[in-house]
Order: sequence, then C-alpha cells, then structure tokens
Amino acid sequence: MTRLHLPRTVLDRILSLVTEHDDPATETGGIIVGHDHGRTIDVTGVGEPGPNAVHEPWRFTRDLQYAGKVAADAWRRDRSQWIGEWHTHPRGHPAPSDLDLRTYASLLRNPSLRLDRFVAVVVTTAPKTIIAAWIVTSTTVGRLPIRILSSNE
Ligand SMILES: [Zn+2]
Repeated sequence: MTRLHLPRTVLDRILSLVTEHDDPATETGGIIVGHDHGRTIDVTGVGEPGPNAVHEPWRFTRDLQYAGKVAADAWRRDRSQWIGEWHTHPRGHPAPSDLDLRTYASLLRNPSLRLDRFVAVVVTTAPKTIIAAWIVTSTTVGRLPIRILSSNE
C-alpha cells in the first residue's frame, strides 16, 4: 500500500496556514508538491491559497494560476512536482466531498498536468483538528496512510 511521507515541518506549515486563515467558517487550501515514488509519496512542500482563491463555507475554488507558479518554483528547487492539494472542511468530515472528487477528476483529465493519481489532504478544524490523506485516481479513491517524518529522517 502506498504511504504518504509528510515532514513535520510541512505539517506545521499546513496547520499554521489553517490558523492564519482569517475566516475559519470558510474553506482554505493550497497545492502539495513532492515526489511520487510509487510505494511512498514524499511531500516536500505546500502552497498558500493564492490571491484569487475563493473561500466559501462548503467550497474552496483554487487559484490555478498561483498554483502553477508554486509548482514551477518547486520544480526548480528540487524537481518536486504538483502531486495534490490540501484543503479544510471547517465543519465537515475529513474526506473529499463529491464536489472535491469532481474537481480532482478534471485535474486528472488535464493532459498538461500529467497526473496519474492525486493526493488529497483534508483537514477538519471543528470540533477538533483531524488531518487525513486520500489517494484519488480516475476510477478510485482510497485512504492514504500518513507517516509524519521528524526533521532528522
Ligand atoms: Zn472539500
């Protein structure tokens, strides 16, 4: 089974972006970059929402232009690729919604992104913080176990 390797520093970055989001009743998110090695997927960084993201209570509309810039920077830094995204469900269940799955399906169909599978990290913020990862292909969605890596791993 595939496993997500998430450095503690990147997890802390996600949690601080969640905390900094000025309207906790609406969703926020950003892209995830890293290396997909098959059995493990190594996360190397996450993006901010971007200036043109639209935050709503049940929907987060991605700023695709900003996401492309984050992905290009990551590629130049260490050949990291756009492997997925993180977003919040302020009151919800830590799983992709039907709307999320339709969005991921369209990203997987986008030939310029060259994605075979997509990592979705969903963070609930109330009543408590839960972080869960999912692996999505054009036909399947499954839970992706997370291993948090401390900085010396
Ligand atoms: Zn969602």
